[in-house]
Amino acid sequence: MAKILVIDDDPVVVALLTTWLTKEGHLVSTASDGEAGLQRAMVEKPDVVIADMMMPKLHGLQVVEKIRGNPDLASTKIVASSLKNYPSDVRAALDTGADAFLNKPLQPEEVLKTLSALLKGHNIRVKFWGTRGSIATPGMRTARYGGNTSCTEVRCGDAILILDAGTGLRELGSALLEEFRQRPIAAHIFIGHTHWDHIQGFPFFVPAYVPGNNFTIYSSRGAGKPLERVFRGQMDGDYFPVRMSDMMAHMKFVELQEPVTIGEITVRHEYLNHPGMAVGFRIEAFGKSVVYVSDHECFSRLYGAEAGEREDARIREFCRDADLLIHEAQYTDEEYPKKKGWGHSTFSDAVNTAVQARARRLAIFHHDPAHDDGFMDSVIEQCRKDAGQVDCFAAKEGESLEI
Ligand SMILES: [Zn+2]
Ligand SMILES: [Zn+2]
Repeated sequence: MAKILVIDDDPVVVALLTTWLTKEGHLVSTASDGEAGLQRAMVEKPDVVIADMMMPKLHGLQVVEKIRGNPDLASTKIVASSLKNYPSDVRAALDTGADAFLNKPLQPEEVLKTLSALLKGHNIRVKFWGTRGSIATPGMRTARYGGNTSCTEVRCGDAILILDAGTGLRELGSALLEEFRQRPIAAHIFIGHTHWDHIQGFPFFVPAYVPGNNFTIYSSRGAGKPLERVFRGQMDGDYFPVRMSDMMAHMKFVELQEPVTIGEITVRHEYLNHPGMAVGFRIEAFGKSVVYVSDHECFSRLYGAEAGEREDARIREFCRDADLLIHEAQYTDEEYPKKKGWGHSTFSDAVNTAVQARARRLAIFHHDPAHDDGFMDSVIEQCRKDAGQVDCFAAKEGESLEI
């Protein structure tokens, strides 16, 4: 049984939700505008708030923002609901701090499924903090798709997983400090490989300097130095003014051999085709999956179909039926011949992999520094056409999605 607060100015929706939720044994209270809802939330400290986005007095986004800004309501889950479900509206609700979004008209099965996942802590959210490949590319030309290098946050319930520690990690660190305030932060950081664009944010990850925080850093053992020494090396005095020994959080480095289990979450890795040692990750939790393949060059494109197919099939299996496939792509088919052997995919390789693996969604990732926003728009339009059933989009810095 959970305490659920319904905030909605539509009396029919309030009545329906009250009936459905009471039948499930939940304790339901209601409010008919944003301001009254917020006041109730502060008094009752509900487990879940279901808030309409278009309400009198305070609209839904304001309600979400105010709940998220109140440390007393840190454990309250928020479900945003609206008839107006443009992708940008859904994103705005999630970015502001909602845990889930329900399209109106509400369906009882959908409502109960979403609630049950939230109450069990079984929701997965992905947020892109850095989407650029190779080198940070700030500026007006790249403002929409983002200039920070690889960093993706995957929240599985309360567990925080971070895929790569490129320059995007700095902003993620600030957001975590803001969210946790005095509470300790624990996160699992998975590094695909240790090229600069995947580790350069780490020295600027402020939570790592705070005693009481806890970070585990996983990657494959590279061909050269052990993982921990690679991280220590980039903070050597010749490159950086602060040493890794100044980072006061508890830190553990794990060179991957077996799949990693974190509570109900499993993370498997698979070797990719990139200079040096690089791995992709498959996160499975609560019957859902997020697969991360960056940086990777299609084997058959580089070595020919006969030699490469077996390895490509291995990658496809790794991506099989992913709810979200985050796959790198840096080149058009026309650009590729000049970049052959650099360890990166074409857009068509990423789309083909997603289609053949029957991924549900494909996020094109690790954008080339030379590709500005206008170029990305046109390339992605073509990718979307080629992707057919797969919902394809280009990852944008700052964007959140619910899996
Ligand atoms: Zn890279
Ligand atoms: Zn690389």
